[in-house]
Amino acid sequence: MTAKSSACPAALCEPGRDCPLCPRLAAFREEARQREPGWFNAPVPSFGDADARLLIVGLAPGLQGANRTGRPFTGDYAGDLLYATLLEYGFAAGQYQARPDDGLKLLGCRISNAVRCVPPQNKPLPLEINTCRQFLTQTIAGMAKLRAIVALGRIAHDSTVKALNLRAKEAPFGHGAVHDAGHYRLYDSYHCSRYNTNTGVLTPAMFRAVFSKVRADLER
Ligand code: SF4
Repeated sequence: MTAKSSACPAALCEPGRDCPLCPRLAAFREEARQREPGWFNAPVPSFGDADARLLIVGLAPGLQGANRTGRPFTGDYAGDLLYATLLEYGFAAGQYQARPDDGLKLLGCRISNAVRCVPPQNKPLPLEINTCRQFLTQTIAGMAKLRAIVALGRIAHDSTVKALNLRAKEAPFGHGAVHDAGHYRLYDSYHCSRYNTNTGVLTPAMFRAVFSKVRADLER
């Protein structure tokens, strides 16, 4: 089980703007900086306070979403369903307006990504997922009150399972699955991407059911 600590030095939880550890992603980031100098174009930091009880782990920033705006799930379709659901279950307050200065606050909730830099075609390579896991591991370790982790999609699930030192066979991914991991419970959901919702793989009701369970468990 992952050891819990009460603090996480920023350098361990958050990569620097020019993190060089994944050369392919660093080159892609640099191209985006040249092409779109007004965009964020850097590892996207976690959103929400470190003393949250809930951590949501996504895959990676979307090119025109979090990579553009600098806030996880902000500015592309996936954020519409995620933030609407967080507002519904009391994990956020305010109004989501798809921009980082919309004043939206997370309540007892934090959002991060398994891979902090935007990957080409939304597809990080296994080595990149493994390399960036150090930041996910430290993010988890630095959240002293953390109880619930929601993994959005299989890649986020697999990386979180490794970060928690769980055995993959004992925690298979499945929408709605719940895995106990010592102090934590890991909840799985299909990713709230446009593709998954357009194809009916994930309906808003299926997504709400995950957060409804998290909320009920945290209230116990
Ligand atoms: S994906 Fe993570 S480890 Fe790789 S360059 Fe970006 S911040 Fe660094």
